Amino acid sequence: MPDRPPCRCLLAEANPDLALTVREYVESLPPGIRVPEDVYRRRLDRCEQCPSLRGGTCALCGCYAEARAAKRGLRCPDVPPRWREAP
Ligand code: SF4
Repeated sequence: MPDRPPCRCLLAEANPDLALTVREYVESLPPGIRVPEDVYRRRLDRCEQCPSLRGGTCALCGCYAEARAAKRGLRCPDVPPRWREAP
């Protein structure tokens, strides 16, 4: 039987145990590094609609979407970006 392809979903659905670890990591980021929660949610909303999301991992950069979206100064690696650096 062939393997099922990875779901187009965030870690919270694809791997809840790993999602908890990533969430703890995100919550450990200092405020100067971490985006506000509303920005984080908007970025992840874009990731959830994105065809490059594979089982919680961005196929374009290899990052866990829930980790990448949490950091100021990072942007979506797609061209054009589906979300940008600011704030
Ligand atoms: S970071 Fe960008 S390319 Fe990667 S999954 Fe999210 S929206 Fe898609």
